[in-house]
Amino acid sequence: AHRPATRLSGIALSEIVQISERARQMRAEGRDVIALSTGEPDFPTPPEVIEAAHQAALAGQTRYTPTAGTPDLRAEVARQAGAEPANVIISTGAKQVLANTMLATLNPGDEVIMPAPFWTSYADIVRMAGGTPVVLPCPLSQNFKLTPEQLGDAITPQTRWLMLNSPSNPSGAIYSAEEYAQLADILDAHPHVWVVADEIYEHLSYTPFTSFADAAPHLRDRTIIVNGVSKAWSMTGWRIGWGIGPAELIRDMTSVQGQITSGASSVSQAAALAALQSDRQILEDRRATFLARRDATIDGLNAIPGLTCPAPDGAFYAFPDCSELIEGRFDNDAALCQWLLEETGVALVPGRAFGMPGHVRLSFAYAESQIREALTRMETAIDRLT
Ligand code: PLP
Repeated sequence: AHRPATRLSGIALSEIVQISERARQMRAEGRDVIALSTGEPDFPTPPEVIEAAHQAALAGQTRYTPTAGTPDLRAEVARQAGAEPANVIISTGAKQVLANTMLATLNPGDEVIMPAPFWTSYADIVRMAGGTPVVLPCPLSQNFKLTPEQLGDAITPQTRWLMLNSPSNPSGAIYSAEEYAQLADILDAHPHVWVVADEIYEHLSYTPFTSFADAAPHLRDRTIIVNGVSKAWSMTGWRIGWGIGPAELIRDMTSVQGQITSGASSVSQAAALAALQSDRQILEDRRATFLARRDATIDGLNAIPGLTCPAPDGAFYAFPDCSELIEGRFDNDAALCQWLLEETGVALVPGRAFGMPGHVRLSFAYAESQIREALTRMETAIDRLT
């Protein structure tokens, strides 16, 4: 019989995947399903980016690239970040940057502090790399953000990383320069703690965005910034992300990557270079569309009894607190999501998948008409309950 490795033992089949599979099954049965459960923009990749990939392939950019990325893309990422190419690794999506980071640095017993709610994969990547996630609950009452006190209390001699994500999936919270500076003050006293700042939603910010690298430049020798083209340029399928950090860390991450993928796709790297060099107006236009969808989503959610939802500052998710609705009616947030899916055909993701039960995550990377229809169905069904 198949015997899975022990490194997989703590890893559950992603709750997002389970919901998506049930939604697909219901669709196959002819049900009218609106899946607001996935995390990708509905826009197409900009045509000039596709054209650049086509031209690169015709010009022979179809071979292995250097493991850490093509010199052109590394140089462009470095230039835009004010870093050197040796500080940059190009990987198969931002996800592989995170995985490389953890695989290159964690030993058994090492702790990784992650404020909850966090993107589902953070805990699983850390566990697969042999580390121990240390989850700090950061509820709505603190705007889903880590406080300096919480950070100070959680650091132990075993702490290796603090994992930050701003704008956040799923809460949309953005750390201000001041908030980052306060966290950096705590880190000053703990030089063994490094920081991974996942800024993949940078260009989907509705309030001013600050990079951790700019808020805490004195921590640059123990910070890795994660970013990529997936969300901003609607390039999730091209699989290109990057990390910007100390050269020694980048070198070890490159060793890991060399044994797992040999490097990111050559054609996709050419496409990502074109995206980075393209006119940014398209990002502005798309951000404005997301902002309108956000407002429609938040208005609709707050009109439903038992739900409380602040407007997210970034990304394209709403993360309403549903504890009032769940209380006395459902076992938990997962049961609420199952009921909603069966009853209304609307697929959401339970908050427990992000380390914060009592919430659900709804993506608004969909046409406004679809969002409105989903919210109407939810309101009608929940009205019958309450
Ligand atoms: N980081 C966060 C916070 C995300 O939400 C996602 C995608 O959902 C990723 C990283 C992964 O990005 P990529 O598709 O570039 O691997």
